[in-house]
Amino acid sequence: MDSLNYLAGYPESIRQQVATLIKQETLGKLLLSRYPVPHGYTTDKMLYQFASGLKNESMKNAQQVSKVCYDNKIQVIKHALGTHTAISRIQGGKLKAKAEIRIANVFKLSAEPLLRMIVVHELAHLKEKDHNKTFYNLCCHMEPNYHQLEFDTRLYLTYLDKFGPLY
Ligand SMILES: [Zn+2]
Repeated sequence: MDSLNYLAGYPESIRQQVATLIKQETLGKLLLSRYPVPHGYTTDKMLYQFASGLKNESMKNAQQVSKVCYDNKIQVIKHALGTHTAISRIQGGKLKAKAEIRIANVFKLSAEPLLRMIVVHELAHLKEKDHNKTFYNLCCHMEPNYHQLEFDTRLYLTYLDKFGPLY
């Protein structure tokens, strides 16, 4: 069970069920039935537009995001599925805050709902840096199915670790 790193925060009964799916080699079939195709947002430009769309839908008054990109240096473990940085710098005599969102490269080839979940997660961090109740309320405000999608994302990452690419 030690190898289910991505599911460390979930109850043992759930982890057991996932271990069984792995042993029976049916985890891939389950994931494909829920997420039959990968999204098409494969470039940084497309990712930026996708993230901006989500932000404008439900986080209009949050800080502007100046950059959204894929990053092949992010090691996807536990909570680090993406990163966000807030940079403050002096521009024209004024202090400007800029926000950057980096999404782990592994999400380049994932289903749209899973990419959406990780983008929503990083957008919520623009308003709340800790993983607390306010943070998860924000996530669920942007994506009502957030918790299921986060679980499925962890299932997907577990699958990639054990069996390689799904698509
Ligand atoms: Zn986070």
